[in-house]
Amino acid sequence: MRVSGEPSFRESVDLMFNRAARLLDLSPGLEQKIRVCNSTYTVRFGVRLRGKIETFTGYRSVHSEHMEPVKGGIRYALSVSQDEVEALAALMTYKCALVETPFGGSKGGLCIDPRQWDEHELEQITRRFAYELIKRDLIHPAQNVPAPDMGTGEREMAWIADQYARMNTTDINAKACVTGKPPHAGGIQGRVEATGRGVQYAMREFFRHMDDMARAGLTGGLEGKRVIVQGLGNVGYHAAKFLSEEDGCKIIAVIERDGAIVNEAGLPIEELRQWMNANGGAVAGFPRGTHVADGASLLEAACDILIPAAMEGVINLSNAERIRAPLIVEAANGPVTFGADEILRRKGCVIIPDMYANAGGVTVSYFEWVKNLSHIRFGRMQRRAEEARSRLLVEELERLSADKGLGWTLAEDFKERFLTGSDELALVRSGLDDTMRTAYQAMREVWHSRQDVEDLRVAAYIVAIDRVAKTYRSKGL
Ligand code: NAD
Repeated sequence: MRVSGEPSFRESVDLMFNRAARLLDLSPGLEQKIRVCNSTYTVRFGVRLRGKIETFTGYRSVHSEHMEPVKGGIRYALSVSQDEVEALAALMTYKCALVETPFGGSKGGLCIDPRQWDEHELEQITRRFAYELIKRDLIHPAQNVPAPDMGTGEREMAWIADQYARMNTTDINAKACVTGKPPHAGGIQGRVEATGRGVQYAMREFFRHMDDMARAGLTGGLEGKRVIVQGLGNVGYHAAKFLSEEDGCKIIAVIERDGAIVNEAGLPIEELRQWMNANGGAVAGFPRGTHVADGASLLEAACDILIPAAMEGVINLSNAERIRAPLIVEAANGPVTFGADEILRRKGCVIIPDMYANAGGVTVSYFEWVKNLSHIRFGRMQRRAEEARSRLLVEELERLSADKGLGWTLAEDFKERFLTGSDELALVRSGLDDTMRTAYQAMREVWHSRQDVEDLRVAAYIVAIDRVAKTYRSKGL
């Protein structure tokens, strides 16, 4: 979705990088080294399907190897191109640095409409693509670890992991070659929801700071905020579900491929998603909302928070002037173009940038990779010990109360919650929450302490570039 006169996605990411880099004291050589994409591998491979050979084009781009393995999702979409994977790989470098996951940046993609192929065909295509990448170490637990992105999910990651294991039969760390696997195939609890959950934690952290809210002209908390979400896929669905069910937000519109569905009183997200599952992904006809055929027009509707969670470039020079949301949370990668970003900043709109807002996915991928390398589920050693210590305390309190005739009783639900040790899901969520809070504070510190930093995006780039530069310098570059 490129509007004429606008830079490409990769150029847009580079221009955003440049805005921040000029505020840092980097040598021109180091600045250039960090900005450029190290390599992009293009592969064209054939698969015999429906009686003939079909040729597919795929990419795996490595933006920066200042830390290894490099990390980044694999996307299945017809829009996939070298420019797109390079932009996304660059964003991965900065994202990993911002949330302190010890990875370089990478991204992959296959030009394919996954809806045109059945499950068995997709498995053949995925295994063949994986084979091409594995034999060049572009999928490898120590060098390059993919994850899901648009059009892929747990199923594809399980096929990739199995393909790697078949080709590396003695690699004890084979499962760590890819993240986002289903839990029964070496995945981790909470990975599917992770990016949407991270969006929720990012927004909670933003709303903890009154002066940050004030910059967007917002007050109060998340409760009752009117939210518009674009894309009810993995990221958008989880973000919308958690924000509405746990934080009291009203999702007043969801924009999808076949239009938007609107309900000022708030949409029931779980029901809407089930409707989409039963209707080939369409929102039209959903009984608890009004369908608007020109879905993209809802990006311009009045609301408190706009969450683009579908794809890049949707807020661009053609609509930026008309965007009314005072706060945009970039759950998708690159939804706001460089030109639109300038317009929105001028209008006073606050943008929580993609490299931070959607970093929950890579954060939990990091936990999964660590779990695979340590060959043990999180919480397995501590959980019951934690419960036993809590039980000791509760029993002692009850004994003291009985001894002294105080008649104290602990509420049953408190006791149950206090006595339950942390399982893997609880630990993953806690680690994710901590990561999102810490990264926000690092960004915010730069945003508030420097006169020359106008917005959170530049602040995020400054934190990230500075960290990447430090790593390069310590390598002697
Ligand atoms: P997905 O394929 O699960 O969902 C995308 C959704 O957007 C689908 O429901 C699709 O129908 C909808 N959509 C596509 N084009 C649209 C359009 N033009 N208008 C409205 N809706 C449209 O993908 P996802 O994994 O949720 O990824 C969405 C975005 O989030 C991408 O930019 C991706 O790079 C980014 N992201 C994903 C993850 C992850 O863990 N999956 C992590 C970080 C960032």
